[in-house]
Amino acid sequence: MFTRITRSAAETAQLAQMVGKKLHEGTVVCLDGDLGAGKTLFVQNVAKMLGVEGEVTSPTFNLMNVYEGICRVYHFDLYRLENAAELEDIGFYEYTEDPDGIVFIEWSDKFPEELPDDYLSIHIDRLAEDAAARCITFRAVGEEYQDDLKELDEFCRF
Ligand code: ADP
Ligand code: MG
Repeated sequence: MFTRITRSAAETAQLAQMVGKKLHEGTVVCLDGDLGAGKTLFVQNVAKMLGVEGEVTSPTFNLMNVYEGICRVYHFDLYRLENAAELEDIGFYEYTEDPDGIVFIEWSDKFPEELPDDYLSIHIDRLAEDAAARCITFRAVGEEYQDDLKELDEFCRF
C-alpha cells in the first residue's frame, strides 16, 4: 500500500497521468471514494495518457463506456446499479476476468463479491482541513499486482 496527497484537481490529474504511463493491458483498476472525490477525473487523465482522444465522460447511466487509445479502455461506473445480476448483461465478467485492455470500475465497493480476485485498488478520500485536497491510497489486492504497485510507488513522485 502507498498513499499520495494531492492539493488540487490539477495535482490529481498529474498523478493520474503518471499512473497512466505505467499501466499495461490486462489491468483491472477499482476506484472508490465519495461522490465528487475525483474518480472520474482520475480515469479521464489516465485515458489521456493512453492516447484516448475526445471526451471521457462518466458512464453513470449506461454503466460502461469503451474508448480506444494505445489500448482499449473500459470504464464502468456502478453507482446506479441496483442489482448485481445486471452485471452479466453488460458483459462485466468477460471484461474483468481477462481484459483485452485496461478496465476501470468506479464504485466497485458496492459489489465486492463480483470483483476479480486480483486488481489494483485506488481509494480517494477528501481531507477534512482542505476542500481541494485528497488522500489517494493505492493497494494491490491479490498477488498479481504486487510488483505493479511497487513500480507505481517508485514512479509516482511529485
Ligand atoms: P467522482 O467521479 O469521484 O464522483 P469527479 O471526478 O466527477 O468525482 O469530480 C471531482 C471534482 O472535484 C472535480 O470537479 C474536481 O475539479 C474537484 N476537485 C477538487 N480538488 C480535487 C482534487 N485534489 N482531486 C480531484 N478532484 C478535485
Ligand atoms: Mg464519477
